[in-house]
Amino acid sequence: MNTSSPVDTSLPRWGARERLELLQRLRTGPTSWDLVVVGAGITGAGIARDAALRGLTVLVVEAQDLAFGTSSRSTRLIHGGVRYLEQGELGLVYEALRERGRLYEAAAHLVRPARFLFPAYAGDRLSPWKLRLGLTLYDTLNFHRGQAHDYLDTESTLLAEPLLRGEGLRGAVQYEDAVTDDARLTLAILTDARRHGAEVLTYARVERIMGTRGAHTVVLEDGTRVDATVVAIAAGPWSGPALLGSGGEGLLSLSKGTHIVVRSADVPVRQPLVIQAPAQRRILFVVPWGTRTYLGTTDTAYEGDPGNSGVTVEDEDEILGITRRLLPSARLDRDAIVSTWSGVRPLVRVPGASEGETVELSRKHRIVERDDGVLAIVGGKLTTYRSMSEEIVDDIVGRLLPQWPHGRPRPLPCTTHRLPLAPGRPLTAIELEDPVLADLYPRHGPAARELGRRGGDNRCLVEDLPYRWCEIDHAIAHEGVCHVIDIVRRRLPLVLTDSAQGAGVVREVATRLVTASGGHQGDIDEEIERYRHGVEIETGRKTNVL
Ligand SMILES: Cc1cc2nc3c(=O)[nH]c(=O)nc-3n(C[C@H](O)[C@H](O)[C@H](O)COP(=O)(O)OP(=O)(O)OC[C@H]3O[C@@H](n4cnc5c(N)ncnc54)[C@H](O)[C@@H]3O)c2cc1C
Repeated sequence: MNTSSPVDTSLPRWGARERLELLQRLRTGPTSWDLVVVGAGITGAGIARDAALRGLTVLVVEAQDLAFGTSSRSTRLIHGGVRYLEQGELGLVYEALRERGRLYEAAAHLVRPARFLFPAYAGDRLSPWKLRLGLTLYDTLNFHRGQAHDYLDTESTLLAEPLLRGEGLRGAVQYEDAVTDDARLTLAILTDARRHGAEVLTYARVERIMGTRGAHTVVLEDGTRVDATVVAIAAGPWSGPALLGSGGEGLLSLSKGTHIVVRSADVPVRQPLVIQAPAQRRILFVVPWGTRTYLGTTDTAYEGDPGNSGVTVEDEDEILGITRRLLPSARLDRDAIVSTWSGVRPLVRVPGASEGETVELSRKHRIVERDDGVLAIVGGKLTTYRSMSEEIVDDIVGRLLPQWPHGRPRPLPCTTHRLPLAPGRPLTAIELEDPVLADLYPRHGPAARELGRRGGDNRCLVEDLPYRWCEIDHAIAHEGVCHVIDIVRRRLPLVLTDSAQGAGVVREVATRLVTASGGHQGDIDEEIERYRHGVEIETGRKTNVL
């Protein structure tokens, strides 16, 4: 097999060598930063990018891989959140729709608009007129930018989506929202943060944060110490007392959400569908994803390690049961499931809310401060990561200014609302006629041009999925991976889409990764073991590595 396929040289390198150099600098220290960010999910990534663009020195430390937590386990929607209208969260919907618009501009390749179909059946909590009212409000909060919603009568609904059950159908609304790749969106934000000077260290858990307001020391699990004027914790569902002290006590309610993936031939929906769960104030999504379709999510109270939420038979049955009712001719049985994932929502607890009722909890975020001045940001959504980051970085800059050294250029205002995430021209329609570029563009944007150039190893990794071998070499050199599971789960969603969870290619991927970092056969075996373990924890599936 060709292991020397050329890699993209126009992007900053982010491989094993860069990681080692950073680690050595931190270990031989002392190093001091304006800002240390704890956690490289989408929130930490957004904070790092915003702060770096303003001219602050920034270090991000992440216990696992980037986007290891909730930011690679979401429903992958960039949306205003139609559901939050019902809860009266107009401010949140307005903010999310505004941010959705900005993401269309900033990352067109990663945030793709789609028409969502939301049907109503006899007996459903949300009748057609309620849906029309809600979507009229949705369009208004979006200032009528983009395509307005449409109302479809029963006949037009079935024409739009023949897979839907006809019996009891009363009509539908069709409206715009967007679909993304959560882990790659996080990667794109961090890559741009690095481009503007931020440093990112993964697989480095923060053990302790010491000091007082304006002078903190962050201690990593290997004893390495880094100094920071401000520390911002963006640890998602891990934001408990261990990191936040007494302020983290009872701050969050954790809610688990599960998704299942099936072949699109088994559930051939033409557009994303929104499905009402009977007798509950909940909706589920059925989203077409190339040769696959994914369905989710559940919403159940969760306790335990957010990294090990797993998927139970009950979770799978709940999703299958709710969707089977509406899609009677689809193949929705346990054997149809290709893969699964689950994530844990870090929901800000509302005083007085009943225990276990996570569906009703707000998706709003909150900034909290420890007694020693360490900041933390919790809650929120993928969609609103940028505005959340802007808010906390404004606060951080305010804290830095009184100590700002004379003669050092002052921090710039926020620019993230107008700058693209990836430099370069979008691909043209003619370029996208090339099947390799068409496969690469949704994940890599303008960089697809370089990545897919002739002479590279452009073979598909797996027959019916759009992932290419050149992406593996690119990930190893430019996308900050340490382990094989980082590549096949988060740089490419192979574990979620391949019926073998990528087992057929993992040995070769491990060989390329270990060879690039100068390792040995033992390291390849270790990588495969780590991959097996990771897949089993997340999907409950045993893998058969060749
Ligand atoms: C099932 C589900 C579906 C969702 N769907 C959507 C959706 O469709 N659209 C949307 O907008 N939002 C959605 N969300 C919400 C969204 O995914 C989250 O709000 C967002 O990903 C949270 O990102 P974060 O960076 O705050 O947390 P995370 O992504 O969880 O990142 C926290 C990071 O901190 C790291 N960390 C923890 N402890 C330490 C430590 N001691 N030292 C160093 N690092 C540490 C973790 O490893 C982790 O990587 C969904 C959430 C769930 C669970």
